Amino acid sequence: MESVDCVVIGAGVVGLAVARALALQGREVVILEAEDAIGLHTSSRNSEVIHAGIYYPRDSLKARTCVRGRVLLYEYCTKHDIPHRRCGKLIVATDSAQIADLDAIRAGAHGNGVPDVDWVPASQALAMEPQLACVAALHSPSTGIIDSHALMLAYLGEAEDHAAMLALRSPVLRGALRDDGTIEIEIGGAEPTRIAARCVVNSAGLTAPSLARQIDGYPDQRAPKEYYAKGNYYALAGRAPFTRLVYPVPEPGGLGVHLTLDLAGQARFGPDVEWVERIGYEVDPRRAERFYAAIRCYWPGLRDGALAPGYAGIRPKTSGPGEPATDFEIQGPSAHGIPGLVHLFGIESPGLTASLALAEEVLAALR
Ligand SMILES: Cc1cc2nc3c(=O)[nH]c(=O)nc-3n(C[C@H](O)[C@H](O)[C@H](O)COP(=O)(O)OP(=O)(O)OC[C@H]3O[C@@H](n4cnc5c(N)ncnc54)[C@H](O)[C@@H]3O)c2cc1C
Repeated sequence: MESVDCVVIGAGVVGLAVARALALQGREVVILEAEDAIGLHTSSRNSEVIHAGIYYPRDSLKARTCVRGRVLLYEYCTKHDIPHRRCGKLIVATDSAQIADLDAIRAGAHGNGVPDVDWVPASQALAMEPQLACVAALHSPSTGIIDSHALMLAYLGEAEDHAAMLALRSPVLRGALRDDGTIEIEIGGAEPTRIAARCVVNSAGLTAPSLARQIDGYPDQRAPKEYYAKGNYYALAGRAPFTRLVYPVPEPGGLGVHLTLDLAGQARFGPDVEWVERIGYEVDPRRAERFYAAIRCYWPGLRDGALAPGYAGIRPKTSGPGEPATDFEIQGPSAHGIPGLVHLFGIESPGLTASLALAEEVLAALR
C-alpha cells in the first residue's frame, strides 16, 4: 500500500488552507476530493463576505479565528492579488425596539476585539446610503467582500508549489487505524485504492461528522450529529441600491436576509434559513415572497418582481432547529486520543474568513 505523510480530505476553502499550511511546513500532502473540481460545495455557495468578527460569543473559536483570519486574509489578498474590496457594512435597526439589539451587537464586537464597529445616527446612515430606511445603524468599516474562487486557487497553487498533490474524483469511503500508528484510507470512485497516512485532516464540510464515524477505531460518539440549514439567495435585477453591505439584526440560525454585493457590483439578498434533510441546491422561487417583506423593512424601494432565484448553500450545522448555536470544533488527538487525526466539525460561517486561522489551529492540534 502506498503511504504518505498527510492526507487532507476535502478541497473546500478550509481543506485547501490546511493543505497549504502543511505543505509550507515541508510536509508531504495529498488532498482527496470527491468531486471533479475544487470548492463545489459550501465554499462556492456563500455570501463571499470577509466578516469582521462581530456576532460570535466572546472567546469562542468562531470569534478568535474570524478576527485573526480576517487580518491574515486581507494581508493574503494584497500579497497574492486576490480580488477583494473593504466595502464596509451597515447593520440596521428598522424600529426602535431593535436599538437594544444593536447595542448588544456593538458591545459583543468590542469584546471580540473589533473596536471599529460603531454607531452611526440614522441621518448619517442615510447620507451614506440614500435609499436606506432605518432608525439607527452600526457601521463596520473592516467588513469586505472577496472572490472566493480566486482565493481557493491561490491556496491550491501555493500548496502545489510546495509539492502537494490534488486528487479529484477521490471520495474517501472509510478509514482504519493500523498497528504501525498510521491511518489507512479507503478511496472509492472509478479507480478505488487505499493509502496509509501518518496524519489525516477530515475537512469534508457537510459530511465531516458522518465520515468521522466511518473511521474504525475512532470513538464515534465523539462525532456530533449533522444538521443542514440551507440558505437561499435571490438576485436583484438592475442596479444595486447600496454601495455597502446592509444587514438587519440577526435571526435564529443565520444573520437575517441581508444585501451583499459581488465584486462586479451585482446585488443579491439572502441567505434565509431552511432546515433540510439532504444536500441539494435548488432554489424554490416561491420563497422569494417572504424576502420582499423582510427587505422592504430597510429598503422600501424594492419593486415587485425584482428578485429572481439565485443560488443556495448549506450550513454544516452541529445543532438542530431551536437548539443553541454551536462553535466550530477542531477535534484533534488531545480530544479523541488518536495521534495524527484531526476532524473539523461545524465549519459554517465565518469559515471562509477564518480559513487561514483555522489552518493554524489544525497545525497546532497536530503538534
Ligand atoms: C449560505 C452560506 C453563507 C456563508 N457566507 C459566508 C460568508 O459570507 N463569509 C464567510 O466567511 N463564511 C461564509 N460561509 C461559511 C463558509 O462558506 C464555509 O465555512 C466554508 O466554505 C467551509 O469550507 P470547507 O472547506 O470546510 O467545506 P466545503 O466547501 O463544503 O468543502 C468540503 C469538501 O469536501 C469534499 N468532500 C466531502 N466528503 C468527502 C469525501 N468523503 N471524500 C472526499 N472529499 C469529500 C466536498 O466535495 C467538498 O469539496 C457561508 C456558508 C453558507 C452555507
